[in-house]
Amino acid sequence: MDKYILSIDQGTTSCRAMLYDRNGQLCYSKSKEFKQIYPKPGWVEHDPMEIWETQLYVIKSLLKEHDIPAKSIATIGISNQRETVVIWEKASGQAIGNAIVWQCRRTAPICEDLKERGLEKEIYDKTGLVIDPYFSASKLKWFLDKHPGLRDRAKRGELLAGTIDSWLIWQMTRGKAHVTDYTNASRTMLFNIKDLCWDDDLIELFDIPKAILPEIRPSVGHFGYLDPMFLGQEIPICGVAGDQQAALFGQACFNSGDVKNTYGTGCFVLMNTGNKLVRSNHKLLSTIAWGIGGEVEYALEGSIFVGGAAIQWLRDELGILENAAESERAAESVSDTQGLYMVPAFTGLGAPHWDMYAKGALFGITRGVNFKHIIRATLESIAYQSHDLMSLMEQDSGIKLNVLKVDGGASANNFLMQFQADLLKLNIKRPANIETTSQGVAFMSGLEIGYWQDKADIEENWLCGRSFTPKMEEKDRVEKLAGWDRAVKSCMTFR
Ligand code: ADP
Repeated sequence: MDKYILSIDQGTTSCRAMLYDRNGQLCYSKSKEFKQIYPKPGWVEHDPMEIWETQLYVIKSLLKEHDIPAKSIATIGISNQRETVVIWEKASGQAIGNAIVWQCRRTAPICEDLKERGLEKEIYDKTGLVIDPYFSASKLKWFLDKHPGLRDRAKRGELLAGTIDSWLIWQMTRGKAHVTDYTNASRTMLFNIKDLCWDDDLIELFDIPKAILPEIRPSVGHFGYLDPMFLGQEIPICGVAGDQQAALFGQACFNSGDVKNTYGTGCFVLMNTGNKLVRSNHKLLSTIAWGIGGEVEYALEGSIFVGGAAIQWLRDELGILENAAESERAAESVSDTQGLYMVPAFTGLGAPHWDMYAKGALFGITRGVNFKHIIRATLESIAYQSHDLMSLMEQDSGIKLNVLKVDGGASANNFLMQFQADLLKLNIKRPANIETTSQGVAFMSGLEIGYWQDKADIEENWLCGRSFTPKMEEKDRVEKLAGWDRAVKSCMTFR
């Protein structure tokens, strides 16, 4: 009998569970949001136990709703929000405090200090990352510094720490496995992406007891078994990856130069650079795309902190949209923005600017500008930011892009996709299933258990839903991009 693959997508705002069939097609899904905790401005936390309980709940309800027995599941794949860290007690499995989420800016002072000490180059050389509160290491350091006694307990082996994948696997295996995969490890700022191991110098620099860190495994491989206590059946966990790398895999971006952009809360552009570790001259990140067998492949990554979140802001804070999907019709109902630009730097600017202090702005407001122009300018800002990253990626990698694959909630917006194709002068392909994150780890775990023989075999399961081809006049394109450049620069000079 052909069994399903259970894919877990533990995201920033929700836990999802999906069932994929042997052809890699999505059959059923279930999701549930969990609480966002904002203890202070700029701080973001999650309750780790709530994450695990919500995750388990969606898995159980998915199976129950569709009357699918656990024995029909061949394997489990896990993708997760990256960089977020949890510390827990080994003996009880109880988390110590809340998880510090990737978006949390509380460790800006620790990062400033590292920069002042001139450590940027060393850290970039070892990890491919730029110093920023975004990554896990400063969060772990903050936690251990803040709570006296924890470091000693950690040294005595009483505590464990890890990213969300490790936390979930520890719970799922009831404490039998403390593991992570290469992609998640590569976002911690403690992992050496050349030597493929925890880096002793960095561990010392951040003062993290090594005993609390998980063992690192290839993304396709064995991570342990879901304990029979949960579904009455033991099920192997055979694919694990951070959400963006999982999406790159789900998009079948298997060749050097293949690129995907995920348009979610933020936007994440990743380019596969094969087994070559490409270094950026523009503060893009070098990261691990995945580890399979004895090999790893690398990726270049650029992240935009505010993408679809800017549309949420129009809806929730300005109240000029009922829902996100409506933005498409509003944008198309005007012929242009009347020269209006929106720079949604609500939480600073990510790559390539890495300006922790930039704030958002609207530029070029004239008497005739109305809310539809603001909506259109906001959608366009998502495409401008993505354009900037991709043109730098072309320069850094020396590879000319020939197609962009897109996914994430806001990729459903046809206006945005057309504008993106126009700005990039590039064909865009949107897959039939935009849930590429869960599909990616479904593919990974299916590969491990022999559902597919190799990546070429998987590629046949990638189905295109719609394509967008560029059609904007070159003169318009150049003018628009020049205006955007001026807007971003102005935004960074306002303090
Ligand atoms: P995440 O996984 O980061 O939570 P999703 O991939 O679910 O995000 O995408 C949700 C985001 O996409 C939200 O910020 C929402 O505003 C935006 N979004 C969803 N649908 C549309 C749409 N049709 N047009 C523009 N933005 C959209």
